[in-house]
Amino acid sequence: MNLRIPGPTPCPEEVLQATGQQMINHRGPEFAQMLRRVTDGLNWVFGTSSDVLSVTTSGTGGLEFAVVNTLSPGDKVLSVSIGSFGDRLKSIAKAYGAEVVSYALEWGEAADPAEVGRLLDADAEIKAVMVTHNETSTGVTNPLELIAAEVRKRDRLLIVDAVSSLSSVPCPVERWGLDVVVSGSQKGWMAPPGLAFVYMSERAWAANADSKMPKYYFDAVKTRDSLAKLQTPWTPAVSIYYSMDKAFELMRAEGLEGIFTRHEDLASYTRQRVKSLGLKLVPVDEKFASNTVTAVWWPDGIDGKALSKRAREEFGLVLGGGQGKLEGKIFRVGHLGYVYKDDVVSALDVVEELLA
Ligand SMILES: *Cc1c(COP(=O)(O)O)cnc(C)c1O
Repeated sequence: MNLRIPGPTPCPEEVLQATGQQMINHRGPEFAQMLRRVTDGLNWVFGTSSDVLSVTTSGTGGLEFAVVNTLSPGDKVLSVSIGSFGDRLKSIAKAYGAEVVSYALEWGEAADPAEVGRLLDADAEIKAVMVTHNETSTGVTNPLELIAAEVRKRDRLLIVDAVSSLSSVPCPVERWGLDVVVSGSQKGWMAPPGLAFVYMSERAWAANADSKMPKYYFDAVKTRDSLAKLQTPWTPAVSIYYSMDKAFELMRAEGLEGIFTRHEDLASYTRQRVKSLGLKLVPVDEKFASNTVTAVWWPDGIDGKALSKRAREEFGLVLGGGQGKLEGKIFRVGHLGYVYKDDVVSALDVVEELLA
């Protein structure tokens, strides 16, 4: 199978083998050493010297962790949404009683940093901004560094969903001045699902001290205090720590620049190839097209679902479909994590053949 969905992504053989190791005491010395190594790896990739938290949950759990640990019911937050994951983050904030102001764009567009600045100037009560770095549903990457600069100028809190960007494209959390940043093991990290990673800045910890949203399992203080003892508050997904431990060995061997360049090259090949087939990209402005997932409109009059089914059954190619209102209208090619040229070339060969 050529699994070309934007997560879960394929894992290297070495990672799969590591994942299958025997269980250990999660309060014993071997786990402590592994948690230290994995946390060092996270700090390296996130670009921070303060320990990134890891939580046994999926990416969505990481987003919920971010919200409940920094906000209180009634807090005004600006939701910047350019697709289904932006909408999800907004729903989480609403579910916990935040008062959400919405900046929603047409799917396929990127957010305008200047507009974020204007919206914040217009309402001094907005305490936090929530934004998706890479919107996996539309294949659009927001200009996060510029958005962050606008938020910093006005000293609000910035909560970032970097689930499908971090580790594949640059997202240096300290350099860009981000406050709460979430990622997940099954996207670009070459590991199976099961762990979410959450960075919190000093400002985020200060917000945490005032935060009144209910939390128990997802309590950042409990997580941080356990981490100080090289433990987790609850039984962790030990197997996924094995995976991450091995994945970091591979990532360090390749180096961050190498990883970023590989993703850039694969994405640029995918976009060129798709356009050469006469297909249209979902991102309205190619400048914001994602380097981890390419979203493409099926041509008019084509039954996208039927073609995806044939891709899977006849060619062993699993494409991502459209989410929400894009269902059946687009396909997505994931090119993040453990992925090389052959994987995308053969995927696009299949698309070409099916369209012909
Ligand atoms: C995959 C993804 C999520 C959700 O992660 P789950 O692990 O499915 O809960 C959130 N945001 C973005 C941008 C994603 O790509």
